Amino acid sequence: MSEKRYTVKEMYYTLQGEGGQAGRAAIFLRFTGCNLWTGREVDRPKAICQFCDTDFVGTDGENGGKYTADELSKKLESIWTIHNESVTRDAWVVCTGGEPALQLDAPLIEAIHRAGFKIAIETNGTIELPDGLDWICVSPKAGAELLVTSGTELKLVYPQIQFDPKSFTALDFEYFFLQPMDGPDIEKNIVATVEYVKQHPTWRLSLQTHKLIGIP
Ligand code: SF4
Repeated sequence: MSEKRYTVKEMYYTLQGEGGQAGRAAIFLRFTGCNLWTGREVDRPKAICQFCDTDFVGTDGENGGKYTADELSKKLESIWTIHNESVTRDAWVVCTGGEPALQLDAPLIEAIHRAGFKIAIETNGTIELPDGLDWICVSPKAGAELLVTSGTELKLVYPQIQFDPKSFTALDFEYFFLQPMDGPDIEKNIVATVEYVKQHPTWRLSLQTHKLIGIP
């Protein structure tokens, strides 16, 4: 049997923009594909998730391709060591997408850990996660059943008529973040989010700082 290959849209070194790890250096490992939208504009009106701003189709991004677990972890190491002398204990990989849980599994987690990285995931929470992740960020999507009800941070885009933030705070997360919905109403949404957080201090404001400062 041939070895499993993981389909990757892109991998690049940047700073984490949002949530509880905002500001730290990290490699973004963007897997191809999502279970809530095909990624094709023609399918957006009938997609479960309709406000996606990410291109997760194909393998044509920076360092994109099909990798075995071993090849992928070596690639991460080589990207990290372009900017750092070695893979130290601060080395951080953010598995994102698309929906990374469609592909991320125990053998790949083991391989990335062996290479010295800690592993975060940004998931829509609709697929059970493998064990061994170091940071779990779940962003629930309206119309999709939430299966991952525990983790490190829950990040909710706000406001969404289908979601009352109060319905999430009993879940088993360490941090709860509200992130203003991007788009034409962003200024209004920031004001609404700030106001909500001031009145509900369980929540913290998450801004997409990478967009504010113009980095990927
Ligand atoms: S779940 Fe995430 S990646 Fe998938 S369509 Fe929605 S925002 Fe985009």
